[in-house]
Amino acid sequence: MKHQHPTHPEPTDAQARRARPVVVCYPTETLPQLDLAASAARREGAELLQRLSVPPRSAACIDVPAGHFARIVSVEGPQVGDLNIWNSHNIAERFYSGKTRALHGTHVGTGDSLWSSFPFMRPLAHITCDTLDWYGYDADGGSVHDVIGTRCDPYTGRLLSGSDYHYCCHSNLTRAVAEHFDLPPEEAERHVHDVLNVFMLTGFTRDTHQYFMKASPVRPGDFLELEAQIDITLGLSACPGGDCGAEHSSDTAQCHPLVIEIYAPKTLTGFTPAPPNPYGR
Ligand SMILES: [Zn+2]
Repeated sequence: MKHQHPTHPEPTDAQARRARPVVVCYPTETLPQLDLAASAARREGAELLQRLSVPPRSAACIDVPAGHFARIVSVEGPQVGDLNIWNSHNIAERFYSGKTRALHGTHVGTGDSLWSSFPFMRPLAHITCDTLDWYGYDADGGSVHDVIGTRCDPYTGRLLSGSDYHYCCHSNLTRAVAEHFDLPPEEAERHVHDVLNVFMLTGFTRDTHQYFMKASPVRPGDFLELEAQIDITLGLSACPGGDCGAEHSSDTAQCHPLVIEIYAPKTLTGFTPAPPNPYGR
């Protein structure tokens, strides 16, 4: 945070320096444009292959073959999910929330890609439908589906409150990764990474620019739909914060399950798996 009472005086040209124009760091006009109409055509009549329920305060992993659709669905009540994504065949390639944020902004929506880590840097998935797209940004500057948070974790809880809580999304995801990829917990933990906060309502406070949350507007039936661009594995934790309207990292909040549905398109005509970034190194 910036000091409220700076110890250094403003230079005489301070206002002029502050008035310089804003330049978007990574304009996205030159990115390949998603063909959402083609995705919608493939989605039409796709068959429900699998339905996985993620119980509250726990996590699960599920494979999504390239070209298949995954829906993260709210059921029973408002609930936030912390999402990790890996290349199913090489979990060193994983979701890169920081670069996704740099390209698409603090909160993602329909038409955005979820990018993978270096040296691959390709879309792991495209967001093809978001039933909360009506929300936009509210008067507090908040919105849903952020790529600014990390994931709730026991280490920060220990630092801030001295407590040890074992059902943070970090720990839930660690257990799910260990089970899905058959890894010892210590190794599995290293593959857990910063998340897409599905359905979570977040922003930065106007005065101190601190990360804030407020109760998610998600309701049962809402979903976020992804189209896998390579074979991916999703890891989803039903956050112990519930709708994240009050607190997380405890057993206090009312929590609900989340569901992941996997749909197989009738045809993959027109679908090409995403190749790795062609940069030659
Ligand atoms: Zn969480």
